[in-house]
Amino acid sequence: MSTQFFELKEGDSIKFPSSKGDWYSYSIEIDLKPEGRFHNDYKIKGVLGTGHFGEVKLATLANAVGSESKVQEYAVKIIDKNTVAKKPNTKLHDEIIIMHKIEHPNLVRIRNLYNEGDKLYLVMDYIKDGEFFDFISKKKKLTEYETRIIFKQLFEATKYLHDHRIVHRDLKPENILMSNKAKLEVKITDFGLSKLLGPEYSLMKTMCGTPLYIAPEVLDRSPKRSYGKAVDMWSLGVILYVCLCGYPPFAKDFAPPTFDEQIRLGIYRFYPPAWSYISNEAKNLIRGLLNVNVKDRLTASQAMEHPFMQVKSIFM
Ligand code: ADP
Ligand code: MG
Repeated sequence: MSTQFFELKEGDSIKFPSSKGDWYSYSIEIDLKPEGRFHNDYKIKGVLGTGHFGEVKLATLANAVGSESKVQEYAVKIIDKNTVAKKPNTKLHDEIIIMHKIEHPNLVRIRNLYNEGDKLYLVMDYIKDGEFFDFISKKKKLTEYETRIIFKQLFEATKYLHDHRIVHRDLKPENILMSNKAKLEVKITDFGLSKLLGPEYSLMKTMCGTPLYIAPEVLDRSPKRSYGKAVDMWSLGVILYVCLCGYPPFAKDFAPPTFDEQIRLGIYRFYPPAWSYISNEAKNLIRGLLNVNVKDRLTASQAMEHPFMQVKSIFM
């Protein structure tokens, strides 16, 4: 007689024969959480993209019912822990609990996190309108009015993160997703990963990608270098500059000084003709953010109160 194995799931029932020859039914109550396996809970539907440390996949709940168009979709970032750090992070569980409490309309909502073997599955809401990077690349640049709408959301979300003692460390147009292009609604993604996986994670990623958005204090090789909330405000300054004119404030083409020195010394210019028609309030906000002196750089709250952000448009 061959033996067959069946995997039992929550809700399955099995029957045992009694001594009288009839069958007793038992239903199975299995509490899958917190050890529930990702693949028990979610179905993979496709690939959304490839990240630095794994893939981002489109998924639905495994038991989702309803017409295809109505089923809630999720984006799952699958991180290979071996690629990130050799030592498994022992503090991971506490951090997961903290991350679950992070909820803001301009932050991608984290729904679940599975720490299984050498993989980390981060389940997020699926944001349908793509990256802000593609949006801005296609439009070339934004008006001050459009920029203000976007930055109100970015400053608020960053303030919320900072108030919860989370530094994003990797703010850039690729990590801003569009939840509604027509309404210019954005959500920041990829936050908290440096908190979960240690600062090496962001540093490694930074070194792989373009250092365009990196604050000068991060490039500083001295032992007393700081790496706090202000790094995010610098990155927002670079993004703001790019949005208004369509090109970055620092570039190899602008050398000398070298690209590194431009960032470290905060050397950039408001070149004509693009900047000739941009308001002094906008330029002043950029100056406040792209300040090499960490102590004098605007905080998220200060940026929200800046005169550029207060302009009331007749269309608003
Ligand atoms: P990494 O930062 O590790 O390189 P990303 O977070 O940028 O990886 O993810 C890779 C791809 O997946 C990107 O193209 C991004 O647009 C997409 N993506 C990531 N998160 C979501 C999400 N919540 N909804 C929709 N698409 C997403
Ligand atoms: Mg990213």
